[in-house]
Amino acid sequence: MIADKMRPLLENNSAIRAMFEEGKKMAALYGPENVYDFSLGNPNVPAPAAVSQAILDIIKEEDPTLVHGYMSNAGFADVREAIAGSLNRRFGTHFRLENILMTVGAASGMNVILKTILDPGDEVVVFAPYFMEYGSYVRNYDGVLVTVPPNTDTFQPDLVEFEKRITEKTKAVIINTPNNPTGVIYSSETLRQIAEIMEKKEKELGTSIVLISDEPYRELAYDGAEVPYVTPFYHNTMVCYSYSKSLSLPGERIGYLVIPDELEDSSQVLAAAAIANRILGCVNAPSLMQRVIMRCVDEQANLEAYDKNRQLLYSSLTEYGFDCVKPEGAFYLFVKAPEADDKAFCQVCKEHRVLVVPGTSFGCPGYVRIAYCVSYEQIQRALPAFEKIAKEYSL
Ligand code: PLP
Repeated sequence: MIADKMRPLLENNSAIRAMFEEGKKMAALYGPENVYDFSLGNPNVPAPAAVSQAILDIIKEEDPTLVHGYMSNAGFADVREAIAGSLNRRFGTHFRLENILMTVGAASGMNVILKTILDPGDEVVVFAPYFMEYGSYVRNYDGVLVTVPPNTDTFQPDLVEFEKRITEKTKAVIINTPNNPTGVIYSSETLRQIAEIMEKKEKELGTSIVLISDEPYRELAYDGAEVPYVTPFYHNTMVCYSYSKSLSLPGERIGYLVIPDELEDSSQVLAAAAIANRILGCVNAPSLMQRVIMRCVDEQANLEAYDKNRQLLYSSLTEYGFDCVKPEGAFYLFVKAPEADDKAFCQVCKEHRVLVVPGTSFGCPGYVRIAYCVSYEQIQRALPAFEKIAKEYSL
């Protein structure tokens, strides 16, 4: 019954999701306070109060046939305009509503982009470690994922290796900054160099290569770190944004794409992306959530809670002897496993009721990801377990 293309997916179902399910079972067995689940990037900070208020106000004030009705596949015009205006104010860009397409979160945004641009056999370059779903998204459209090996000293992209991997088949490059799973942010200089390599290769090969900036963590940057806006660096850029993390709305499924005028065939790409949105079965982004974004377009994430978690976890784990790069953004810590086999290390952690995800799942064996979008108390309760694990490995 099941399609051949689906079979491998069934066999290698997401390690993150598997760990999350395991966590629920363990919580039922030992009590939720005795299981330290750091597996899923599910924000524990509630959505801003303005979001709930907006939902109530919309229900009271707006026309229900509009709020709950079908619309243009690209989304409500006024919402797209509000987003363009907000981006222009914050980043000095010049977007119009025609450059914005509302999506069902970043997951569907990425699928819309890839459906719009990929032909079978086209290659998509990613930098390891990377969000593992990219592989499935690319294969959805018979594309081929090409991985740039990790630069484990800094987890900044290895640009020499990057350049070597661009071929005449390269259709797109995905970047994700602030990064899941490492928390690193790409500087302006890094973006400039990525753009320079891509422009050079476009000229040399006579092809068009799209830079896809997947940015669900854009607003989660600590210590005032700058997250440069990507479109001014490179002409063929598409931005995939999501409110899942910034407004803590992952279950509501709302985000958008930016398709700038500078992109080759920009208006046709926008039209094709709107069709992709429809025929992938999304039809349009959730209408109530679009109306919410209209009212909450400049709402901010509560960074303080994540930052407090980041400081405690980073300082404690490094004190115990674990090795990791200090994250500048997002809400993940990517820690070197004290044994080569990261899956075996996850198993040891599990014996201490600590659930983390193997780096293998991000194309980077030998590391584990700890998602610290949990309560501060959970981290405090888990620290003795981390200390015991460190002692077991004589760190
Ligand atoms: N891209 C990255 C890098 C992510 O980490 C995630 C979710 O964790 C997504 C995309 C998907 O986000 P969304 O909930 O907006 O679909």
